[in-house]
Amino acid sequence: MGKPTGFKEFERKTVPYRDVTVRLDDYGEIFTGSHDDEHLQTQGARCMDCGVPFCQSANGCPIDNLIPEWNHLVYSGHWQRALNRLHKTNNFPEFTGRVCPAPCEGACVLGITNPAVTIKNIEHAIIDHGFEHGWVKAEVPQNRTGKAVAVIGSGPAGLAAAAQLNKAGHNVTVYEREDRIGGLLMYGIPNMKLGKDVVQRRVDLLHQEGIEFITNADVGGSGDNAVDVNNLYKENDAVLFATGATRPRDLEVPGRDLNNIHFAMEFLTANTRSLLDSNLEDGKYISAKDKNVIVIGGGDTGTDCIGTSLRHGCKSLVNFELLPKAPAERAEDNPWPLWPVIHRVDYGHEEGMQRFGHDPREYCILTKAFIGDEAGKVTGVKTVEAKWTQVDGKWNMEEVPGSEKTWQADLVMLSMGFLGPEHYVSNELGIEYDQRSNYQAEYGKYATSVKGVYAAGDCRRGQSLVVWGINEGREAAREIDTFLMGSSNLP
Ligand SMILES: Cc1cc2nc3c(=O)[nH]c(=O)nc-3n(C[C@H](O)[C@H](O)[C@H](O)COP(=O)(O)OP(=O)(O)OC[C@H]3O[C@@H](n4cnc5c(N)ncnc54)[C@H](O)[C@@H]3O)c2cc1C
Ligand code: SF4
Repeated sequence: MGKPTGFKEFERKTVPYRDVTVRLDDYGEIFTGSHDDEHLQTQGARCMDCGVPFCQSANGCPIDNLIPEWNHLVYSGHWQRALNRLHKTNNFPEFTGRVCPAPCEGACVLGITNPAVTIKNIEHAIIDHGFEHGWVKAEVPQNRTGKAVAVIGSGPAGLAAAAQLNKAGHNVTVYEREDRIGGLLMYGIPNMKLGKDVVQRRVDLLHQEGIEFITNADVGGSGDNAVDVNNLYKENDAVLFATGATRPRDLEVPGRDLNNIHFAMEFLTANTRSLLDSNLEDGKYISAKDKNVIVIGGGDTGTDCIGTSLRHGCKSLVNFELLPKAPAERAEDNPWPLWPVIHRVDYGHEEGMQRFGHDPREYCILTKAFIGDEAGKVTGVKTVEAKWTQVDGKWNMEEVPGSEKTWQADLVMLSMGFLGPEHYVSNELGIEYDQRSNYQAEYGKYATSVKGVYAAGDCRRGQSLVVWGINEGREAAREIDTFLMGSSNLP
């Protein structure tokens, strides 16, 4: 365990981000890049090594990270051993240590009475130490099975599955329709939260370990980069779909066809690509400079649109949330160890406050229409306030009479979630879908309705988190290994 009396002696203190005034001027990571070992050892000392560590199971970490073990190792200064424990359950701690919302901390037993252990900060520091000291090395499997597996999609689910299948000795090829590998790790989550050098560093290691990556490969598509999915099926012993939930939810209100209304991903993807290709000099992105920006919808995607618009130098910024502001503390029906549904201030909100003096979020706002000028450009958004009441345990929304308002807007981003995977690739193989139009495959089994074809990550479970992608990719790899070899030694 940490220090037996550590949780009584030391207070929770998270590692701060870079100064908000400084970081707003660049696209570098919000993290400072350095880790104060003494501070982290003190935080690790707070771990109680409770009898049943909820942080690493149940409502906690989806990949069952061995949290109390590495907390103790960090407290005792054994960073390399901590890294070895971390890699046992997590292929990519450098991703989760940066972007995971840390359900583990919501389920930390210390959190019942005191603030939880800073688990995510410790994870981040362990893996960064690993890279700094050269402890993270490519591990090429000693034997090959001669079996071939195609993975379609290179997000965290596809990469985790590829890593595990390669470990088991299979020949793995990852097909990605984008020009860079990483899925939403590359072209979704912006540089500020996850540097693209960090993603590429891991992709390079996976390549050194023997995984083949093919970019600009649109499996099932019809354009110049098309790859025939039926051939892929015939030429491989198994196929894994890890194609993500890429269909954005639209807002079908009057004026939707006006110019300068974009899905969030159009904005974010173009920005990252232009940044990586030319440091934004090619102009191939949607600029928010000097614009009145409205972001409709919250979550990580909405926050990332806020952070990016601020860096462009937007004139004003508003973020509409349909739901009410969450309470500061857990509500009675949201007890420990459930994920705490509480008001959070993410990096983009903090930056919005710094730039404009207030949090950009407006709650209980329902968008009714977009209005535009004669040239067809959006000039405003019409809204009405929403009133939420609970009837028989179910939430009911009503429009508040007389609360209509028009907001000035030159650029609107739609960030209202995702509806599931695109079907052009799966239709070709006749894969069945569930009621939400995701690929039909049971959690824990991952087998689709077509023999030898598996599905994992957001394309199977719906839009989710990086850590769940890693969980499903790892588990799907074990199922595929069992299908190919009759049994599996993969965890
Ligand atoms: C803007 C944004 C911010 C986010 N921030 C966070 C965060 O901070 N923390 C967090 O935990 N989660 C975050 N998420 C969610 C997280 O990124 C996803 O849950 C996760 O990436 C899903 O992984 P995946 O591997 O299933 O799919 P994806 O990462 O979506 O990858 C799927 C890949 O498949 C490719 N593909 C699709 N069809 C084909 C085809 N036919 N042929 C070839 N390739 C194909 C796509 O191009 C894509 O690269 C965020 C999501 C978004 C959109
Ligand atoms: S992956 Fe996420 S849930 Fe698991 S230990 Fe890390 S921060 Fe916590």
